[in-house]
Amino acid sequence: MPRPFIPYSRQTIEDDDVEAVVRALRSDWLTQGPAIERFERAVADYCGAPQAVAVSSATAGLHLACLALGVSEGDVVWTSPLSFAASANCAHYCGAEVDFVDIDTGSGNMSVAALAAKLGEAARARRLPKLIIPVHYAGRACDMEAIGALKERYGFHVIEDAAHALGAQYADGSPVGGHAAADAAVFSFHPVKPVTTGEGGMVVTQDAGLADRIRPLRTHGITRDPSQLQQKNMPAWYYEMQRLGFNYRITDIQAALGISQMAKLDRFIRARRTLAERYRHLLRNSPLTLPPPGVYCGWHLYVVQVDARDAVFEKMREQNIGVNVHYMPIHLQPYYRALGFKEGWFPKAEAFFKGALSLPLHPRLTEREQDDVVAALRDALVGGK
Ligand SMILES: *Cc1c(COP(=O)(O)O)cnc(C)c1O
Repeated sequence: MPRPFIPYSRQTIEDDDVEAVVRALRSDWLTQGPAIERFERAVADYCGAPQAVAVSSATAGLHLACLALGVSEGDVVWTSPLSFAASANCAHYCGAEVDFVDIDTGSGNMSVAALAAKLGEAARARRLPKLIIPVHYAGRACDMEAIGALKERYGFHVIEDAAHALGAQYADGSPVGGHAAADAAVFSFHPVKPVTTGEGGMVVTQDAGLADRIRPLRTHGITRDPSQLQQKNMPAWYYEMQRLGFNYRITDIQAALGISQMAKLDRFIRARRTLAERYRHLLRNSPLTLPPPGVYCGWHLYVVQVDARDAVFEKMREQNIGVNVHYMPIHLQPYYRALGFKEGWFPKAEAFFKGALSLPLHPRLTEREQDDVVAALRDALVGGK
């Protein structure tokens, strides 16, 4: 009998999560109720940031953070090519141009040296980016101090794409989210991410003004706050749509799940860290290149580098092991190629992608399953190309 499929990631939903959702369903509020503010407070408090705005996805959060920072036509936004397309698409939604900064091979994060060099060239060409979106790849925080120093020098905005990194820490041990060097950080609650609400996202920021600009945009640009209204002394039904916004609301049902999940975040991260350490031990004598150790990494992904990746991938899938690839660099997607991006422009990201194989890693993965993954991997490697 073939072994059951072992996915690369999956959600962890427990009985009390289910009960929290059922309570929300039986309450007076399915959307725009009190659970959303409580969820925002839970994430803001966890990150030690004063402001959080919950939205329908991280993609929506990235879009609104870009808009609220004034990103528009004529602007340039830089991000990492080794990411999910949303990290770049958000700038295009605002009419801005996108460019990429190559990665560091070890961490998979945007290279600070490459960033500094590219900023120097852009300054000479008078074409500096308005915004830079570093991605905390696999839950390993970027060097925010170094990015902050460049921000001071060149005067761009920074949004952390922290979709992988809720529960991880920066180099100083403080929780990822709303770093002082960034304007905002955006989290995702998709089922494979550190905690889930089904779909969902959160923008965390130190900047109350920015949060106040984002909040109405998630609900059509509508405000009811008397202090914000242009017309004064209006009846209680009155509201104003002051900017073109969207329906990017999260529901109370989702927020109730999110509150319940946040209480488990540290336990989930501990489980991921233990399993990552165990992979390091089990694979120490293999021909693979393992990800660097990281006590502060949230281990959203465990990505090894392997020769003949596609052959190994196929053999693992035949063994019902749900390996995956994160990511084909964004600039190689047909949509971006059609904009003029070419293979060879970000060689480190391309080389990383060529060998990248994400091994199953999630809080409910058992040691037994992990042993099966390692055994299948050894077979695939011995089996040759
Ligand atoms: C998942 C992900 C997103 C998008 O998150 P959604 O909540 O699905 O919109 C953005 N950036 C990165 C790096 C991601 O992994």
